[in-house]
Amino acid sequence: MAWFKKARTPIDASAKARTSRVPEGLWVKCPGCAQIIYTKELAANLNVCPKCAHHHPMSAAERLRWLFDGGLWTEHDKGLTSTDPLTFADTKPYKERLETSARATGLRDALIVGSGRIAGIPAVAAAMEYGFIGGSMGVVVGEKIARAVERAIERRCPLVVVCRSGGARMMAGTLSLMQMAKVCATLARLDRERLPYLSILTDPTTGGVTASFAMLGDLNIAEPKALIGFAGPRVIEQTIRQKLPEGFQRSEFLLEKGMLDLVVDRRELRDVIVSALRFMGARSDSPAEAAELLEARGAADAGVGAVGS
Ligand SMILES: [Zn+2]
Repeated sequence: MAWFKKARTPIDASAKARTSRVPEGLWVKCPGCAQIIYTKELAANLNVCPKCAHHHPMSAAERLRWLFDGGLWTEHDKGLTSTDPLTFADTKPYKERLETSARATGLRDALIVGSGRIAGIPAVAAAMEYGFIGGSMGVVVGEKIARAVERAIERRCPLVVVCRSGGARMMAGTLSLMQMAKVCATLARLDRERLPYLSILTDPTTGGVTASFAMLGDLNIAEPKALIGFAGPRVIEQTIRQKLPEGFQRSEFLLEKGMLDLVVDRRELRDVIVSALRFMGARSDSPAEAAELLEARGAADAGVGAVGS
């Protein structure tokens, strides 16, 4: 007979069983300085860490809210959805991926296009949603960008695209690669029409997006320390069998090498966009025109700033 017996089961110390008393989402740990920041403080600072200026990601809707006057815009081509022409499946079927992403983001695909005013300047703008299959460019993203360009031409106004993408969507195969050519061709038309196009590159912008519309801006403006490139550094290292330099494929490095025009802190970025648009000849509406448009829009308010999440 044992002298001594453990009557109760040992305490389960697995991470899953441990519960935190801090409500989730109140605080975030900054990857830049490892400090704990209050979420509301971070949001009030445009998701830039107040301690080390690390740029935390922003969703597509947050981007447009930040860009357009009063956070209001009219969304275009909201209903476009991807099909699954190849009935593609990797670890899970493409169709299932589309559904999960749609549920998680509330969007139909990885891009929101809207028109509104930026400091009084009528403009068309698009922002990519990384939460939707890595912000990848499938048929819908390509089509929406092309239509955004056409809309800008029609309205004789500038185009601003905020890029954040892992590249072309491989689940759509060559159809996603074809978008690169299509988008580039429509952007060439915008150029011939002498209308400004600003590309804003944020962390990360890679693959087929870098290889098409992200690098074709009249000005290519990046946020600090954003990863921008075509192939990933590991792939390049293995191919050329050389160690890559420090800070390779980051905004500052690319600026130094002439790949980018500007690297701007997010807190100053909107002002830079506005002065660049003005410099390129974009004109604000006269106050009377703007008031008239606002009134007209008030009547059909349903579509304005439709994306709330
Ligand atoms: Zn920080």
